[in-house]
Amino acid sequence: MDIGIAGCGIGGLAAALLLHRQGHHVTLYDRFPAPRPVGSGLMLQPTGMAVLDRMGLAAEALACGAPIQRLHGLNREGVAVLEADYADLGMAGVFGIGIHRASLFDVLHRAVMAAGIAILTDHQVRVSTAGADSRRLHFTDRDAAAAHELVVDCMGVGSPLAPAGDSYLPFGALWCTMEWPEDGPFDASLLEQRYENAGKMAGVLPTGRRGAGGVREFSFFWSLQQADHAAWQANSLAQFKAEVTDLWPQCDAVLDQLQSPEQMVFACYAHRSFAPPVEDRLVHIGDAWHSASPQLGQGANTALLDAFALSMALESEGELQHRLELAIALRRNHVRLYQWLTAAFTPLYQSASAWPAMVRDLLLAPASRIAPGPAIKARLVAGLAGSPLEALGLALPDYAALRAP
Ligand SMILES: Cc1cc2nc3c(=O)[nH]c(=O)nc-3n(C[C@H](O)[C@H](O)[C@H](O)COP(=O)(O)OP(=O)(O)OC[C@H]3O[C@@H](n4cnc5c(N)ncnc54)[C@H](O)[C@@H]3O)c2cc1C
Repeated sequence: MDIGIAGCGIGGLAAALLLHRQGHHVTLYDRFPAPRPVGSGLMLQPTGMAVLDRMGLAAEALACGAPIQRLHGLNREGVAVLEADYADLGMAGVFGIGIHRASLFDVLHRAVMAAGIAILTDHQVRVSTAGADSRRLHFTDRDAAAAHELVVDCMGVGSPLAPAGDSYLPFGALWCTMEWPEDGPFDASLLEQRYENAGKMAGVLPTGRRGAGGVREFSFFWSLQQADHAAWQANSLAQFKAEVTDLWPQCDAVLDQLQSPEQMVFACYAHRSFAPPVEDRLVHIGDAWHSASPQLGQGANTALLDAFALSMALESEGELQHRLELAIALRRNHVRLYQWLTAAFTPLYQSASAWPAMVRDLLLAPASRIAPGPAIKARLVAGLAGSPLEALGLALPDYAALRAP
């Protein structure tokens, strides 16, 4: 088939590569003027790694990321109220990977370029229309429309092809990338967080190295309500640093890297999904279909799983529309489960109200330390709840072999 993929992010690049390898003619479109390294840190879970492994890209991804063994969050009193250890999965050698979005993008983008897949930049999709046997993409500031037998919408959370909705969450986060302090106060195998109730949260996520020979880096993040962003910008950086070190004194060792407020990029998150994400010769995957707060660290991984499910369904027999519906059916339960889980967990760590943190600290955190709590938490964080890999015939990669020189 002649397939147009709108959106050259993580899901779009993965879908392009998988569909190209099946013999389809693929064209990628993105609004950016040139592919460039943007974003901050994200978590690559065993689910996402299973897809990358099938694509032959897992070792490359691991090489530029940072192995994360545990998630570890302390409240003001120094009590651990977020604990999840990949060792509790009971699967030898499996861990999460902190990785800069740019590194993951680069791994996929290099493979797409090597495959000779066309990426048309400066193509801002506005709308799509269905023809007799085609779906056309129409662009802003361009007369020409592009007709394809199938269009895959991978344009992320604000896709113009998906139903609009005011689903942005009150809390977002300020993010920046910093150089990892060698011999510093942080543990390189942890995603660490500090909370004051659920109203304040600071986090440190090791993200490996961008590019060969690059320095080790981490993402620093600070929870912030959208409504408070303007006030934050009006305040001085010194005031912000004082607030951070008041919550997490060890951050003092890295905050001199923060020279200007522009280094802290504000991201806000939408919690949304819609059904059915299939129209005539059009399918929506990744954040274009479903998005949530990054609290459970699943966004890039679910986009990779969706892309794989699409490639698997397109290989089956039957009408195109049925195959697109199959792609969604293969992913629906897992997507629904994680939409629900993320909605339930996010207020425990990001809320203006005090009671979710009280429930977290007094009830959920102590209870989750009792078996089978640790194993359940590890499975949730790893993205493996709901058994998404089995449905797709995917297996976890051999992490030890990937790490071997
Ligand atoms: C610039 C950027 C930075 C990000 N930074 C982080 C981060 O720091 N941490 C994190 O956890 N997640 C980040 N994300 C989100 C994360 O990458 C996604 O949640 C996840 O990878 C799902 O991927 P996706 O392919 O569905 O969507 P995305 O990865 O969001 O990709 C969407 C793509 O569609 C393109 N696009 C959007 N609208 C149009 C349009 N109208 N016409 C043409 N192209 C369009 C975008 O330029 C982008 O390349 C970021 C996303 C983007 C786009």
